[in-house]
Amino acid sequence: MNPGMETLFHDAVIPGSGWPGDPASETTPVAPLAGSVSELANSSPDLQELSARVSVCRACPRLVAWREEVAQTKRKAYANETYWGRPAPGFGDDEAGLAIVGLAPAAHGANRTGRVFTGDRTGDFLTAALARAGFANQSTSTHAGDGLELVGARLLSAVRCAPPKNLPTPAEQATCAPWLDRELVLVSPVVILALGGIGWKATCAALARAGWALPRPRPKFGHGAEFVATRGEPEPGGTGRGWARIAVVGCYHPSQQNTFTGKLTGEMMDAVLSRCRALVKGEGDY
Ligand code: SF4
Repeated sequence: MNPGMETLFHDAVIPGSGWPGDPASETTPVAPLAGSVSELANSSPDLQELSARVSVCRACPRLVAWREEVAQTKRKAYANETYWGRPAPGFGDDEAGLAIVGLAPAAHGANRTGRVFTGDRTGDFLTAALARAGFANQSTSTHAGDGLELVGARLLSAVRCAPPKNLPTPAEQATCAPWLDRELVLVSPVVILALGGIGWKATCAALARAGWALPRPRPKFGHGAEFVATRGEPEPGGTGRGWARIAVVGCYHPSQQNTFTGKLTGEMMDAVLSRCRALVKGEGDY
């Protein structure tokens, strides 16, 4: 064991120590400061390495302290469990047509289980909907290594560490953005489902940074809202190369608050995922 890793992660799962699905090893480079995130993200050659680097990132001191404190103090119901206590990388199909962008891991959800949208009510709701829509092989998501596989979809978050009160600061969002940018480049989805206003905003910002042209004025978030971003120019009679489109669809965040109050129902989620499925297939107005 690299002694540096043991020291850095003594309040969280040590990289490469056998956690199911842990993408990192004791030699994975760690981003210690905000300035190093961009360099490590942009030099990640593939999703496996990107996920590994995300999972050991320590660039936001407030979030590192919070995620590790939660991992030590725990919730009573999980007092006997080991918490992951590290950032949650993206999860799902490496060649997904659909990318789903949420806000951030939950303190006792992904920060406990090590897998995004896993181990809480939000994950239960979303995974069941993904299974009904044919994007998941099972309807439950309880822990890493539970057999869940996504087909044609990948789950990402705008911020990869659990923030206090679910509220990352604008500076923390900016620091984490290169991980999202690089993951979107490596996955190259044709549709992005943005969960909640923050997921929508993060998606718009990521597309703009990557050179996509967004409609003006910039589209407002709403459940079922849609827009298409484009890149390059269509060539009349051309091959289509150099001309790309990506559709963005908005959906209320499947938070416990939204699903318990009925603001977001299973039927609403099914309709949005059905629309995403059609867009991925190139059907409908697109
Ligand atoms: Fe790193 Fe993102 Fe976590 Fe900040 S929020 S420590 S940039 S993974």
